[in-house]
Formats: sequence, structure tokens, C-alpha cells
Amino acid sequence: MTGPANVRYLTGFTGTNGWLLLCGQQAAFLTDRRYEEQAADELRDISVVVSSTGLHDALARAVEGRDLERLDFEPDHVTVTLKEKLEAAVEVEWVAAAAPVETQRRRKDAEEIEAIRAALVVTEAALQEVANALAPGQTEVEVAADLERACRRRGAEGMAFETIVAAGRRSALPHGVASARRLEAGEPVMIDMGCKLDGYCSDLTRMMWCGGAPDPRWLEVHDLVDRARAAALLMVGPGVAAVDVDAAARAVLDEAGYADAFTHGIGHGVGLEIHEAPKVSSRSADQLEAGMVLTVEPGVYLEGEFGIRIEDLVWVTDDGCERLTTLSPRPVMLRRFA
Ligand code: ZN
Ligand code: ZN
Repeated sequence: MTGPANVRYLTGFTGTNGWLLLCGQQAAFLTDRRYEEQAADELRDISVVVSSTGLHDALARAVEGRDLERLDFEPDHVTVTLKEKLEAAVEVEWVAAAAPVETQRRRKDAEEIEAIRAALVVTEAALQEVANALAPGQTEVEVAADLERACRRRGAEGMAFETIVAAGRRSALPHGVASARRLEAGEPVMIDMGCKLDGYCSDLTRMMWCGGAPDPRWLEVHDLVDRARAAALLMVGPGVAAVDVDAAARAVLDEAGYADAFTHGIGHGVGLEIHEAPKVSSRSADQLEAGMVLTVEPGVYLEGEFGIRIEDLVWVTDDGCERLTTLSPRPVMLRRFA
């Protein structure tokens, strides 16, 4: 196993350079000198092989004397260069394995769900704190910095992804990461953010309006996107095909003539990684199962005008779903712009 999130999931190791070798009933953990002490602290009942010349060398030592015919590797977590090193280090048949750990990670246990909830509590508090203080003239980058600082101060290890702060027409960019653009009265702002706490991610999108009374058309589209969100949420439950969750939101937008403006899938799984299984889109073959944690995030993007996305985080229960997000989906009015 060479995928960091998979290695963490199976071993509890929180460093960035560690592999897990599984050989029949035996396991070995491979890492470099920097993580020797940390690995001894974090890992139980597993032998640790340390190398200062690369983990492929540690692997060669770990399998020394074993009569191996083949080793499976994780194709999503091995580069072409690394594959060449592996082949040179251990002469066996190397087989690209399916993704058993990613599949296992789809269903969260109670502890994982609480970790995600805790990361979201921090994110919501940070968003509320910063939104209340937003003022004209601030740049999107400054707002992103404030949001990240507010998460860190509440204990976050870092952000789960690049914070999106997109004002005015930039809100029509589904992934408009913060720029030098300044916030002005009379325009919308999209904030999409998430932090990491105990390794687990959170994800939240809310819309704000800089000033008192938003543009009526903007409000109308916001209401539409919110209804799409509610329709998708109603659909989430165990045994439901992921495509049907996407379709429920799309039907609401379609009826209002905005189906083409919803340019991405309705959601994605969230866990140790910000984007993980299941896929929740019109092309997904996944079926929802109890314990899955996923986002529900319909959006309408009108190029040259504005974009609106509202994103909640939910977990699939035995008979439906529970919203982990506690913030109201309504737009936040930024009074200091009025
Ligand atoms: Zn998001
Ligand atoms: Zn998301």
C-alpha cells in the first residue's frame, strides 16, 4: 500500500512517507529516518523497516529471504518512475490491484463520522466568524487567509483543499480559488471551504451577498438551487443509486430551465480525503450504503453573471440520511456593505 490515506486508514500512521507491506498474515511498515520515532509511537504490533535510500530499498529488505511470486500494488498511488524502481528492487510479478482499501473506506464507522462532524463544526464556526467581519475592499485572498486562520485557531491541522472565495462574476467559476479581487457592495460572494481535523475532512459552501437587498434574480436562482439541494437530500438513503440523487437535483433545475448551468455532479464522498468514493453524479455506478458520508452540492453557473452553489455534508443512516451541516442554507447578508 503506497497511498497515504490508505496507509493511515490501516495503520494510524499520520506521516507523509510510509508504505504498508502485507504478506500473508504478516505486515511490515516501511518508512524513512525522519519518521522512525513517529512510526514507533503510532504503530502497534507491526515491524518497521527504515531506509535512508528510498522505500523501495526498505521493501527489498523486508521481502528478503521470502519466496514471493507476485506483489500487488495500488495503481492510483504508484507513478511510472516508482513502478520502475519497484521492479528493479524486487523481481516478482507486479500486479495492479483493484482498490480494496478505498472500497472499505466508503463506509465510515461511528468514530469516523464524529471526526468529520468535528471538522465541520470548526469550519462552520470559522465561516460565521469571518463572514460577520467581512468589509468592502478586502481581497478574496485576505478573506481566505482569515478563514484558514479561524480554522487553525480552532484546532484544525490545515485545510482540506484550496479555499474558494469568489466574488461577483468570479462566482460563476465552479472552482474560483481566492484571487486579488476586492469585495464590493452589491455583489455576491461564494465561499467553499473545509478543514482537516484528526485527519478527516469537512466541506461546506455558502453564498453571501455584500449589502442589504440582493438582486431579485440572484435570490430567485439561490432559491432554486436550495430547492435542488432539498430534493437531493430527500433522495439520499441506503440502497439508493447515486445517479438518482443527482437526477433529483437536476430535475428541479431542469424544470426552471437551468439544467445546462449545473456543470458538475451533485456530490462526492468525504473522509480522510476530500474527494473519495462514492461518486455521486449522473455517471456514477455506485449505490449508497449506510455509513457513507457525502456532499450534496447543486450549483448553477451563469458565465459573465454569477454562480450559486449550496453544499451540505450528510451521512447515510439505516433509513435515510442525517445532515451533518447545521448552518442554514439561506444566503448570508453582509451588513457592513450596506
Ligand atoms: Zn466544497
Ligand atoms: Zn464538495
